[in-house]
Amino acid sequence: MVEGDCDRNELSDSSNSIEENEDSSVNWENNKDIVKFYTRRYSLFSKFDQGIKLDRESWFSVTPEKIAQNTAKRCQCDTIVDAFCGAGGNTIQFAKTCKKVIAIDIDPQKVELARHNAEIYGVTDRIQFIVGDFFKLADTLEADVVFLSPPWGGLQYKKYRRYNLQRLQPKPFDDLWETARKITPNLAFYLPKNSNTYPLVVAPGSNAVEVEQNILGGFVIAITAYFGNLIKKPITLEESEGE
Ligand code: SAH
Repeated sequence: MVEGDCDRNELSDSSNSIEENEDSSVNWENNKDIVKFYTRRYSLFSKFDQGIKLDRESWFSVTPEKIAQNTAKRCQCDTIVDAFCGAGGNTIQFAKTCKKVIAIDIDPQKVELARHNAEIYGVTDRIQFIVGDFFKLADTLEADVVFLSPPWGGLQYKKYRRYNLQRLQPKPFDDLWETARKITPNLAFYLPKNSNTYPLVVAPGSNAVEVEQNILGGFVIAITAYFGNLIKKPITLEESEGE
């Protein structure tokens, strides 16, 4: 596990401040880099104060609730796979829009956190939690939609003008695509905001992609790429004239 593996939640402003002694259970001396994420805890989980638990990596990588809600609305279906579920940011919201969520993570601690956090949201009955490697499990999975939010390979992603999607962890985008595509053509990828989108456009077997910018507090923090029937139907000229 890489420290601060995917620093996804960084906004450009750091104006929020922690009130002194606000939470005595957190050792701020050893967690200075988490402070800015802690100030945004309610944007990660609106029910944060009801006992949400995150490990160090999850502070950096959990998908903020409003973005996860939006993705879940767009991915509404019977069965969805959350291939890299982490501490459950996306899984919890999928459980509200889908009948069944198969939530997978290779790290048992993450799955425990996801289960605990899902309990706080009262949605565990719709979730099947699996500790395992998505690439190894893929052949056994059946689903209408697969959502993928793999690690971005550490903080370095920000230093690139255009992030190369082959840097995704633990395998490059092409492998991720090939593996997920065997399950369903209806895929959604949560990716760095500065991604070079070329591999998405030329992904084998797909003739269209929709790339959505995910904006929080006025800042683009990530993009989500939708494939298959997750792509919104374009509005034709005739339809828009009729409005
Ligand atoms: N969307 C999640 C965050 C995912 S972070 C949330 O909102 O909470 C990426 C996760 O991928 C990490 O938890 C990491 O443990 C997991 N991961 C890395 N390699 C994996 C693999 N081969 N199979 C399944 N999970 C993996």
